[in-house]
Amino acid sequence: MRHSHARTVASSILSPRPLARPLARPLPMLLLALLLALCACARPQPLRLELAHLNDTHSNLEPVDERLVLQVDGQPQAVRAKIGGMARLKTALDAARSQTPGLVLLHAGDAVQGTLYFNVFHGRPEFELLNALGVDAMCLGNHEFDKGPQALGRMLALARFPVLAANVDASKEPALAGRWRPYAILRVPTKGGTEPVGVIGATTPTTPRITADVGRVRFSDPAPAIRRAVAELSSQGVNKIVLLSHNGYEDDLRLAKSVAGLDVVIGGHSHTLLGDRRALAALGLSPAGPYPTVVSGPDGGATLVAQAWKWGEVLGRLSVDFDAQGRITGHSAAPALVMDKAFSQDGRPVDPASAQGAALAAAARASGAAAFPAEDPAMLTALAPYTQRIKAFQNAPVGATLSQDLVRGAASDPGPLVADSCLAAVPEADIALMNQGGLRRDLPAGPVTQGQVMGLLPFANTLVVLEVSGQQLKDALEDALASQIAARHGEALRPPHPAGFTYAVDAARPKGRRITALARMTPGGGSAPILPGDALRLVTISFLAGGGDGMDTLRKIGDRTDTGTVDSDAFAAHLARLGASGPVAPPAGPRVSLAR
Ligand SMILES: [Zn+2]
Repeated sequence: MRHSHARTVASSILSPRPLARPLARPLPMLLLALLLALCACARPQPLRLELAHLNDTHSNLEPVDERLVLQVDGQPQAVRAKIGGMARLKTALDAARSQTPGLVLLHAGDAVQGTLYFNVFHGRPEFELLNALGVDAMCLGNHEFDKGPQALGRMLALARFPVLAANVDASKEPALAGRWRPYAILRVPTKGGTEPVGVIGATTPTTPRITADVGRVRFSDPAPAIRRAVAELSSQGVNKIVLLSHNGYEDDLRLAKSVAGLDVVIGGHSHTLLGDRRALAALGLSPAGPYPTVVSGPDGGATLVAQAWKWGEVLGRLSVDFDAQGRITGHSAAPALVMDKAFSQDGRPVDPASAQGAALAAAARASGAAAFPAEDPAMLTALAPYTQRIKAFQNAPVGATLSQDLVRGAASDPGPLVADSCLAAVPEADIALMNQGGLRRDLPAGPVTQGQVMGLLPFANTLVVLEVSGQQLKDALEDALASQIAARHGEALRPPHPAGFTYAVDAARPKGRRITALARMTPGGGSAPILPGDALRLVTISFLAGGGDGMDTLRKIGDRTDTGTVDSDAFAAHLARLGASGPVAPPAGPRVSLAR
């Protein structure tokens, strides 16, 4: 429902009771008495708001295997630790709730996509476990749209909490109409009763550009939509307002500075680790800013911006004191990595009862940035039937052994190998292109499993063959660079991975002139320049062929064939082929040269 803001303000000036809309009929006595009673206690009260929050859990229902560097007796020791997982988070939340009964749990979007659970079950276990975790509200993330509107509708029907997105309009999309709303008013228990807290949702307006199919859902600029929601909440007497935002940390800081009336911004999307620099350094981690980051809003009041890293590894915890006027009078924070006490080193588990195990656990504990709850048995039981069904598939060997770790962003990036696999799957193609954003995991040295391949390439894109000219190939690369440069906030450029050709980038040059060289790789290690008039057969993933990552040029190419081959299948087959003749190493590179 939307009504005129001006009229609401006027009516609340004229009337002692701020009614949202004029009443056409006389009220029955009982209802009138009830309204008077509500209004009598509707005067805003001071509140200590206890927030817990997650974001970008990305189908990580089980713990994540994470690399940490602990300081043991002043010496850095690399370990792997099991962090997060819904069962461990449940125990941490139960403990927090026993201390603070009014705890509010928020999820800032991207609950799905990233593990086999989503590939196989399309969001059901994720939402069942979020219900069991006791989520009070969630905002939509871009990845919630990954399997299209029908699947999203089925997923959101499972949620037993409000889903929020003030700047996303689904009224023209039948599968999704009514599945979310701009904001919710949570009644937070206080000593004297309850106090209303407004929670507004906002989702990145880049979603249609980075998603295959959002149907007829329309995204708008978040700021005006949030302002409208703040005005509606204010007109209902709500003066404590949280923005639940899936826009990324930098945009959250901008929104906090520019939109009046926001007290707290709980964010996601950028997977930003916030916290105490020294505490996190003791775990080998480096935060992007303090938790919370305090921003001065347009009305001079403080706005607290928080985010809880990624994959459910950090449970955000923020306590905010409000006075009756809704001003923040103080806050305290206790975000923590939620982790197992047991570690592994050099690929072997360390016995927690050993001296080394105890020293590692003590080092992690001494950081002050970690908590060590056990896994909740009921949560494990709820997850078990899903786990059993995917385990068999997950553990199946692909038939290849990697000679070294394939680490994204490093010289051993899995990207060139993935791009090669696209080319190998379509023998008539000349060249291939793979985006960096589509590669979701690193691959460890050793035998490769089907589950690892699906973790690396979870999106089930199909391979599409496009007939392009040399000029169109160059334009497509320019598209990708322009889109990244427009969207990035100081992050390193991540140009697409080529196969069968190489290119050079000078990001400092103007749009359209950043590709400074483009050449085919010829047999025997040579190269030949690609000329504008050359005809090339390009194979790429359906996401890019459909214009993803800003690749408008590719979207407009009519001469195309969708092979129906899924990218992860092509990669597994390529690995198996290479693996038949010995350990697999990343191809010699680099294929993209960046001007400094
Ligand atoms: Zn996101």
